[in-house]
Amino acid sequence: MELKAFKDYLSSHKLKFTRTRRLIFEEIFFDEKVHPDAYEIHRRLKNKGEKVSLATIYRTLNFLVKSGLVSEVDFGEDHSHYEPEITKGAHGHLVCLSCGEVKEFSHEKIQALLKKIGKESHFKTDKFSIQVFGYCTNCQKK
Ligand SMILES: [Zn+2]
Ligand SMILES: [Zn+2]
Repeated sequence: MELKAFKDYLSSHKLKFTRTRRLIFEEIFFDEKVHPDAYEIHRRLKNKGEKVSLATIYRTLNFLVKSGLVSEVDFGEDHSHYEPEITKGAHGHLVCLSCGEVKEFSHEKIQALLKKIGKESHFKTDKFSIQVFGYCTNCQKK
């Protein structure tokens, strides 16, 4: 389904659906638990014997984000991470500052609160992203 939406997006922008673009797409939708960055996608493809340049990966990620299929998340580093947008509901991330582990949590309660806050400022809330930084269970033991 998502793959078809990506194909449609590309063709409506006169872009070709290439094998490489498909590979990058699959890396994001392959495991929804992880939030790969461009380097990780690059590394994974390399391990599979695929030669894809970082520039191509960035360009394709850009298309995926623009098509609305993938969302870009900022974990406080100098680059973005990516995850499927449409297959998941709104959620926040708990990011470990020590090992980089990322856990997801549901937005529901916070969503209601943020809408209330927005309302108080006569602000119509559209979307938001929440990243919480701290230390995971394992790292707290160290
Ligand atoms: Zn940790
Ligand atoms: Zn996530």
